[in-house]
Amino acid sequence: MALTGAFNLLRSRRGRASLSGLATQRDAVLRVVERDRDRPLASLVPQVSLPPTRKKKKGNAVKKSEVEALAVLCRSASEHAGFEPFAEQILAALGLLNGFCVDMATGEGKTLAAVLAAGTYALNGRRVHVLCPNDYLATRDHQLAAEILTPLEISSAVVTEASTTAERQQAYRQHVVHLPVHEITYDLMRDNLVLSADDETAPRLDVAIVDEVDAVLLDEATQPLVIARTSRSDDDHDRVELALARLVQELVPGKDFVTGGDSASFTDAGTARVEQELGIDNLFDPDHVELATAANLALHADRALTRDVDYVIENDQIQLISATRGRVVHRQRWPEGLHRAVQIAEGLLDGSSVEILDQLTIQEVAKRYDTCIGMSGSASLAAADLHERYQLLTARIPQRRELRRIDDPVELYVTAALRDAAAVERVAEAHRAGQPVLIGTQSVVQSESFAALLSEHGIDAGVLNAKNPEDEASVIAEAGQAGRVTISTQMAGRGTDIVLTEDAREAGGLLVVAIECYPSPRLDAQLRGRSGRQGDPGSSVVFASLEDPLFAGGLPADERDGDEEGRVTSAGVLAAVEQHQRMAEGRLLTQHEHAWAFTRVISEHRSTVLTSRRHLLAEPAAATRELLRHLESEEADAVATLLGDDLDQMCAHLALVEIDDAWSLHLAHLTALREGIHLRRLARLSPLAEFDREARAGFEMLLLRAATAAADRLAEAVRNNEIPPVVSRDPGALWAYRVMDPNWGSPEDKFLQFVGERLRAAITG
Ligand code: ADP
Ligand code: MG
Repeated sequence: MALTGAFNLLRSRRGRASLSGLATQRDAVLRVVERDRDRPLASLVPQVSLPPTRKKKKGNAVKKSEVEALAVLCRSASEHAGFEPFAEQILAALGLLNGFCVDMATGEGKTLAAVLAAGTYALNGRRVHVLCPNDYLATRDHQLAAEILTPLEISSAVVTEASTTAERQQAYRQHVVHLPVHEITYDLMRDNLVLSADDETAPRLDVAIVDEVDAVLLDEATQPLVIARTSRSDDDHDRVELALARLVQELVPGKDFVTGGDSASFTDAGTARVEQELGIDNLFDPDHVELATAANLALHADRALTRDVDYVIENDQIQLISATRGRVVHRQRWPEGLHRAVQIAEGLLDGSSVEILDQLTIQEVAKRYDTCIGMSGSASLAAADLHERYQLLTARIPQRRELRRIDDPVELYVTAALRDAAAVERVAEAHRAGQPVLIGTQSVVQSESFAALLSEHGIDAGVLNAKNPEDEASVIAEAGQAGRVTISTQMAGRGTDIVLTEDAREAGGLLVVAIECYPSPRLDAQLRGRSGRQGDPGSSVVFASLEDPLFAGGLPADERDGDEEGRVTSAGVLAAVEQHQRMAEGRLLTQHEHAWAFTRVISEHRSTVLTSRRHLLAEPAAATRELLRHLESEEADAVATLLGDDLDQMCAHLALVEIDDAWSLHLAHLTALREGIHLRRLARLSPLAEFDREARAGFEMLLLRAATAAADRLAEAVRNNEIPPVVSRDPGALWAYRVMDPNWGSPEDKFLQFVGERLRAAITG
């Protein structure tokens, strides 16, 4: 324990930096602002207008001209947006300009600091993307940016889900673009699927300033984002899935399957029924891996996921409820097999299936920017991880006004019921005193049951739940009114400003109550940080219980005894709580690293494919040379005659279409490979090495296969004496979504658990 403690301490120091060296520059900026106070802004603009071409520099050091530039931006902010930037915001902007992540508490004005930095980068000829958590914040923050930047002749734009291709193309030509992080990811993928260079949105990945950086670059970074299209599903496959779905509905809990926590698995009796249904001897025969996966998914879809808890049905579509955001999230799906199994269980199968054209993670996108930096109210706590995964250094900006929030230590109870009773009492007390209260829960179910509990005590709480996602920002914004009680999940409304009314301030400010510890001290800190904004009074407390999933590993017995209210008070408890959070964080990190290891292989393959695509788009004649190589010389001549002037365009077109099809197939192959690869561990092989080996083998001939297929199309055209039809790709037919891991972990982990011993027996026996 002592050793682990020392290790954690080391880990938590790593990745941190100090900005004290930038104080001189900050003061210089303030002096220039003061010096030019009486000169009209228009007269200052020419002296900071730097050449629009980008000079590639070593490092990020701010030059004197940048001090001048930053000063003019400050001036524009006070003149056109009515905000005189604080010294802390200037320091934060300097931090961003020097390549650091900045930790700046909630409510301290990160939006403006980022605009100052973005404008200064732009004046140095760089292109900046400010990556925001959602459309609402991108639009809000772009408005402020435009007010400040336009007078300085720095162009700016915003991209949201609703933006058309033409609007995106236009936006990416501007100096500073605000957009949700998933939009840039989708645009990069859609660009990889265009059949003509004119359709590319062509964002330049120069500087990214990531808002809520730890949430985006750590918590959500390895969740793949997908571009897909609908295609016809395979009838035989459908039949098997339907049969399995019907079967699992008839199974008897406890006899045919057992449930534990959020998951379910077949017993021997259940397995026998599956085998009987499918007409096979042994479900765990390596030849039946696909059937075993399907059976497992059918069982989970039916028994581990619940309508209105994990998902809702809207217009015959499954819409997921995010556990972390606690609301319906559009454009998200579970991994494909599970998603289909749920559709089938709900009778929503319509003969179509999803064909994944490409997938990309935020982590890969972030790494492709020349400079990627960010800001957040809890970045310091993530400094070690940001350093480990992105080689980023994080610096803390001191708070402008002293923090007046009082953070009470975690209150730990023996049972969840006692925990909730104590929390209700605390909420009621604050509510009576006129304090606004924000309650953070772990899940939608928990937020609803807690609201019910409060209502039994005569307290009406506003619940940000699954059914009102649109109101999120406004509900959170109003959470600062006297006596108001708001329940949400940890992520809800991040980035929304909670402004206290005067009454609320006098009553003691916002009380933040967390129900259960989050699996990381950083997430606890994010929630507590919603209170005490800009020197406001406020308080925060976490109510936890020994029954919380975080303590599933168990606390030492002597620390488990509660007092008469069931509160655990022994001295070691706090340390133990933190220890469990560290362990949970460590597990998450390992999971991310694991996911990344797989992603990297796909990423390498994609970049090879893309190089080839770009080459064909830019130089269609190269396609002609490549394709005609695969034909007999008479055939090649006939092709040239048939296609005439369109020869190069048509060859490039056919080659691109075939490459994209081959890539989509390759991705499907990799996905299937990854689902089953964990079984190799049972044969004492390394899943990753095996994945790597097989993935490479599958990729080896991809480009060659695509070229041969395209050449075949040409030969066929000659035989039929008919110009091949041009494939048109309607961007409207593509859809974009995130893949969300189900609450119970990744399907492959569950799968491994499920087969476990049985398969080992089958392999060795
Ligand atoms: P953060 O993202 O750091 O939580 P915001 O950027 O949302 O904070 O800003 C919080 C609040 O502070 C907003 O209401 C904003 O208008 C205000 N604010 C920011 N900078 C200044 C400034 N220089 N002067 C006055 N108010 C400011
Ligand atoms: Mg913000």
